[in-house]
This record gives sequence, C-alpha cells and structure tokens, in this order.
Amino acid sequence: MNVQRVSQRIRMSLETLNSQIVACRRCPRLVAYRQRVARTRKPQYQHWEYWGRPLPGFGDPAARLLIVGLAPAGHGGNRTGRVFTGDPSAAFLMRALHEAGFANQPTSEHREDGLRLRDAYIAAAVRCAPPENRPTSKEERNCLPYLVQELTLLPNVRVVLALGGIAFSASLRAAVPAGGTAAARGVSSWRRARLWRTIASAFR
Ligand code: SF4
Repeated sequence: MNVQRVSQRIRMSLETLNSQIVACRRCPRLVAYRQRVARTRKPQYQHWEYWGRPLPGFGDPAARLLIVGLAPAGHGGNRTGRVFTGDPSAAFLMRALHEAGFANQPTSEHREDGLRLRDAYIAAAVRCAPPENRPTSKEERNCLPYLVQELTLLPNVRVVLALGGIAFSASLRAAVPAGGTAAARGVSSWRRARLWRTIASAFR
C-alpha cells in the first residue's frame, strides 16, 4: 500500500485547525454546559482540572482510518482533554484498536498516558460535550466545518468508521465538500464514485 508521507505543511495546518477548534465558542448552550460540568465535577474527579473546552482530533496525520465519534462525554473527554479518553467507551475502543494494531496500548486514560495511534485518527461530529449526549441540529451544523477540514487535510484516509447515527450523518455530509462527490445519494453510490474512501460502519 502506497501511503503518502505527511508534509510539514499538513502537520502545521492540522495544528492550526486544532487551535481553532479548542478556542471555538460558536454554540452558546454547549459552551455553558461544558464549563458548568468542568466547574462542578464528579465527586471522584474533584482533584482533576477539567479541560472544559472543545476537543481537537487526535492520532496519526498519515492515517488511512478515520474514526468519527458523536461528541466528548462530560466527564470523559471534557475532563481529560482528549477524544475517547477517560471513560468506558474509550476503554472499549482503545482495546479494539490495540488488538487491531492501531494503538500502542489498550488503554486511554489521560493526555500524558503515552498513547500513540498508528494509521488511525479520531475525530468527532461535535467537539463539545452536549447535555444528555444530544446536540441540536444547529450545533451539529456549527461543528461540521471542522470535520470537513480534517477530511480535507488528512491525505491518506481511505476508510471512515462512524460510531453512531449522528457521526454517520456528519461523515456523509462532510464527505462532499471534502472531496466525496455522491454522498447525498447514499453510501453505495458514494463508494462507487470515490473508491478511495468508504464509510465502513455505523451502529445505533
Ligand atoms: S460544538 Fe463545535 S462549533 Fe459548537 S462550540 Fe463546540 S467546537 Fe464550536
């Protein structure tokens, strides 16, 4: 498999994008919620300095696999500052990624835990923790440009693994401006049109 090397320019563009994501305040309801959760904290995390901001993507800029989740959990990513880190879904996903050779360790607990992804990059449809895990349609639309930019910047992505219905829809919507041509007509036609990219799976 010929995997394109990732230039310094792309790495810097990703870093710039991640800085923009972390500073984003486009959704007043989510800004208020993520900050309130960070202030109040769970009893078992009273010693934590919660992240309380949007979460950028994480992983290997040369990845062929892009994993798209729904949004960070209030006491998971919103606490630790990294997607799929510090909650049960992180434990499940990282065990699977490690077994498949995409992660150097089977756990994802905090930002300094040594986790490295190889050939995989993780993003989310919505970057701020939403109440009840339910972003509004407007919040989903507000956040979509970040996924579009990631899909545009990551040069080697061949497979998008969407975890859940909202992530699945966001991935399809992001595919058109990012270079897919037929997403609006459904996955099968998109796959025919853009064989280099496939939405692999969704559940829920
Ligand atoms: S959900 Fe996305 S668009 Fe809304 S404030 Fe958070 S980062 Fe910004």
